[in-house]
Amino acid sequence: RPALVWFRNDLRVHDNPALHAACETGRPVVALYILDEESKGPRAPGSASLWWLHGSLKTLQANLEGLNIPLVLRRGPSQRIVAEVAGEIDAAEIHWNRRYDGGGIELDKALRSALKDDGRTVTSWNGNLLVEPFEVKTGSDGWYKVFTPFWKAARETIGTPRQPYPKPKATSGFKNPLESENLDGWGLLPTKPDWAGGMRETWTPGENGARQRLQTFVDEALTRYRDHRDEPGEEVTSRLSPHLAFGEISPVTIWHVASSSDNPASDSSVQKFLSEVGWREFSYNLLFHFPDLGRRNFQEKFDAFPWVSDDAALTAWKKGQTGYPIVDAGMRQLWQTGWMHNRVRMVVASFLVKHLLIDWREGEAWFWDTLVDADPANNTASWQWVAGSGADAAPYFRIFNPILQGEKFDGDGHYVRRYVPEIAGLPDKYLHKPWTAPTSVLKDACITLGKDYPKPIVDHDKARKRALAALEKTKQ
Ligand code: FAD
Repeated sequence: RPALVWFRNDLRVHDNPALHAACETGRPVVALYILDEESKGPRAPGSASLWWLHGSLKTLQANLEGLNIPLVLRRGPSQRIVAEVAGEIDAAEIHWNRRYDGGGIELDKALRSALKDDGRTVTSWNGNLLVEPFEVKTGSDGWYKVFTPFWKAARETIGTPRQPYPKPKATSGFKNPLESENLDGWGLLPTKPDWAGGMRETWTPGENGARQRLQTFVDEALTRYRDHRDEPGEEVTSRLSPHLAFGEISPVTIWHVASSSDNPASDSSVQKFLSEVGWREFSYNLLFHFPDLGRRNFQEKFDAFPWVSDDAALTAWKKGQTGYPIVDAGMRQLWQTGWMHNRVRMVVASFLVKHLLIDWREGEAWFWDTLVDADPANNTASWQWVAGSGADAAPYFRIFNPILQGEKFDGDGHYVRRYVPEIAGLPDKYLHKPWTAPTSVLKDACITLGKDYPKPIVDHDKARKRALAALEKTKQ
């Protein structure tokens, strides 16, 4: 009787604990992926994620084929389909890697007991985190709500992570033919209009691309990571986020490759990088203990925040037409490539929430639909962090100044000129605040504000004061 591996957000053959365990049994192995748009609970992927999923599954299918493991693709409610496939092949055991969102956990629990009732063994594994949320506890048996003490305790628990599992050896193969849907028939790729051109140019979805990207990052960029990671015009960060979101590479593998003594980076750059990977662990810790992270304010007092409904401003933000170049560059990078640099994510999110007073859930939903790395823990935790409603140790209300942020982190204008080409001709001095440029300078650069590029949709100083006044409502 075969072993069944149910793949979810762990689309890889290297260092995959569930797959590794199934292959170790010596039984024939069958792999299953379900496109589940029906079950309540796990959040349905956004459009950019579906585009990525197509490429990721193509690679997984090919990699599993090399191990004599068929990948069965089915569409429908997970609970019914796992039970059906397990029945069709009479699986003796079923393996999967755990997830940490409330809906996913509930679904897995229900499925586990149904499969056990059918006489099948179910084993779940930690495939996606260095340390699972229930393993890190405060001195009083609670859970951490602040990153620094969390990461300190987490590192003690992690110690040196286990070595990654190698790619399994080819299995004996499952002989009976199995019905599988056709990936191309799932319609995951956009056609009319095809908005994915910039994403195709930027990314190689799938495990092979993930491994390649990690190696290139460690060989070529990690050494500059500590000092330049905040500069969006530099390609210094790893860009592993979509690969991590789909589980094409494990944090355990990342840890070992980044800390390897073969790599040229200084220890401080490596530690800085690992602590960013630690933020991902922290987000999962928050989501696990506060499953409503995407829906409810982590700090209840924010329920009184006076959000504004302003469709025109929201549309200008989504389209990168706010008149603030760093904000517009970020939103256009997101639309074109499905990704945005972390520093700019903070600036655009702060702008939406603090300058426009639009509810963070609107921004979170737009990111969810357009990011290739949309992640149920990182996206919600980060939006709440920027909004001020989340888990943040800072005692003050952070309002990013989009002009100063642009000047500080994109001083040479490399980033803005790339994504907002209509103002590329402005001298650096005015690039992050075009409305301050004298008429003659605008003329030389062939720009009419309000025609070629918008005037700012809000005044920074006024917006700042308005945001501080709004914050007062949360204190009453
Ligand atoms: P690197 O700097 O190379 O970091 C390596 C890995 O560490 C990343 O791939 C990521 O998994 C993790 N990481 C880095 N920074 C953070 C962070 N601040 N919080 C949590 N994990 C982090 N990240 C997502 O993966 N998915 C999201 O949906 C997402 N939404 C965000 C929304 C907002 C408003 C903000 C401010 C941040 C968001 N982030 C999200 C976090 C961060 O911006 C990205 O993880 C990072 O930009 C990815 O680029 P990288 O892989 O080059 O990062």
